[in-house]
Amino acid sequence: MELDSLYQEVILDHYKHPQHKGLSPTFDAQVHHVNTSCGDEITLNINLENDRITSLTWDGQGCSISQASVSMMSDLLTGKSLEEASIVVDSFSQLMASKGTSAGDSEILEDAVSFAGVSKFPGRVKCALLGWMAFKDVSIQAQAK
Ligand code: ZN
Repeated sequence: MELDSLYQEVILDHYKHPQHKGLSPTFDAQVHHVNTSCGDEITLNINLENDRITSLTWDGQGCSISQASVSMMSDLLTGKSLEEASIVVDSFSQLMASKGTSAGDSEILEDAVSFAGVSKFPGRVKCALLGWMAFKDVSIQAQAK
């Protein structure tokens, strides 16, 4: 897999120094998602206060793409309202569906544009999206309460 070396560095840095890793003791909702094609696993906890994400914590194991992606996602979405978060999630989903034709919106995605190159590799897109799909699920469950 060929990724821009700077982007690769950003991804590896999140993999080695994951943000918001370690599950919160309490949560409004919790989900566990698995990417069977690669063996990646993520458990995601969310806490909301008036539709604002006060904490998004996770634990997991798997490849560097899956773990770095959930690390960046939790960093990006913590503190945002659910409405703001869904804009970020949609933007990332579009980037991952671009098959390498999009560079991503760095104003919305910040460091997560590092995954632009991953969209060329269908087998790795699932890895990159695992945490984001878990977020969609956990936010729906938290709102249903
Ligand atoms: Zn993976």
